[in-house]
Amino acid sequence: MRVDKFDVIVIGLGAMGSAALYQLSKRGLSILGIDRFDPPHAMGSSHGETRITRLAVGESPDYVPIVKRSHELWKSIESESKTEIFTPCGGILMDSGKAPWAKHGSEGFFQNTVNIARKYGIDHQILNARQVSEKYPNFLLESEGSGYFEPTAGYLKPDVAIRAQLDLAKKNGALVFIHKPVTKISKLSEEEIEVNVGGQTVYARRVINCTGGWIKDFLPSEKKGSFKICRQILHWVEVTDKNWIHSPVFMWGIGAGPEDFIYGFPSLDGRSIKVATESFLEVDHPDGIERDVNREEQQKFWNEKIEYRITGVKNHFFKSEVCFYTVTTDARFMIQRNPEIQNEYWVSACSGHGFKHSAAIGEYLADLVTDKPTKFTIG
Ligand SMILES: Cc1cc2nc3c(=O)[nH]c(=O)nc-3n(C[C@H](O)[C@H](O)[C@H](O)COP(=O)(O)OP(=O)(O)OC[C@H]3O[C@@H](n4cnc5c(N)ncnc54)[C@H](O)[C@@H]3O)c2cc1C
Repeated sequence: MRVDKFDVIVIGLGAMGSAALYQLSKRGLSILGIDRFDPPHAMGSSHGETRITRLAVGESPDYVPIVKRSHELWKSIESESKTEIFTPCGGILMDSGKAPWAKHGSEGFFQNTVNIARKYGIDHQILNARQVSEKYPNFLLESEGSGYFEPTAGYLKPDVAIRAQLDLAKKNGALVFIHKPVTKISKLSEEEIEVNVGGQTVYARRVINCTGGWIKDFLPSEKKGSFKICRQILHWVEVTDKNWIHSPVFMWGIGAGPEDFIYGFPSLDGRSIKVATESFLEVDHPDGIERDVNREEQQKFWNEKIEYRITGVKNHFFKSEVCFYTVTTDARFMIQRNPEIQNEYWVSACSGHGFKHSAAIGEYLADLVTDKPTKFTIG
């Protein structure tokens, strides 16, 4: 048997790649995972302590079966790896009641969420502004605003999830190369793909390319323009109120513009909360992202987004971190075959909302490349 030839090679071991590698490792195949860094790491799109997950995904009802399956899988990965990945602390979505707000390609995101929850029988409560302020006094919601509370929502720990899936995959026999950037993927025949990685050549029948924002390095030039790399900043601000320990995760549409939005998490350490907004300013490539955050950026965030909306916090930033979104023109995901290399699958651009779906997408990919029926369809 050739030691340089695999059934499947997974390139990029972030959210999507680690999930795919783990799912493939349970199927008795020879598999190789490759990453340019040592995942979990802080250079891609999957770091920063926490990610929100919710079942009524206002982006589109198409995602509901995917996130539901992911919730089942997080539980089984937790029990297999003896780790804690998902904390179902509940989640509140708030609408300022001023103008419908769009999110991740979905117009009227708040109402879409409510409609999806009703359609799929997802447990939830609708709250008026008075009820929001009674239950969650740290949010100064406008009097015409309203809230949607989902008890099954919560947060995931991305680093723990990635590490757990990679460890389990290795335990099941997967080989993993770290600090090895793939430079070229070429088709040799219908059944053989060549992958150049760090001065070495390896071969596979199938390749899953999960390189996140770096996918642009592998796409034909006419396709690259459809992917926007957008720098995001996460802030950890000091809390002065112990209420924050028991807070649900929150998402708050504060206006009609794409950046009129804040989201955040309960306090994990009792002294700070992670809060952020979204930015859609484009950077050409992940390697060109400014990784430092200056005090001016922190102050702007505080003045524009936090000061008059959230209480029990102080204008003191413990730290701020930079991450990035890879956004498609319709803010959906890209999961498709490379038309030039039919057995290579491009799995990237999760447009800022992919983590919650990653466990089930990993399973979907493992089914797809092994010609098994998939649990749901992805258009
Ligand atoms: C600030 C922020 C907040 C977010 N919040 C949420 C949220 O609350 N809920 C939610 O569901 N989603 C959220 N998301 C989106 C979600 O985190 C991403 O969609 C998801 O993590 C993307 O995973 P990925 O596997 O595509 O990319 P990554 O995790 O970045 O993985 C790509 C991997 O490919 C590797 N790689 C790249 N090039 C090469 C190469 N040439 N050779 C080998 N390896 C390579 C990289 O090193 C990296 O490890 C958020 C994203 C950000 C940035």
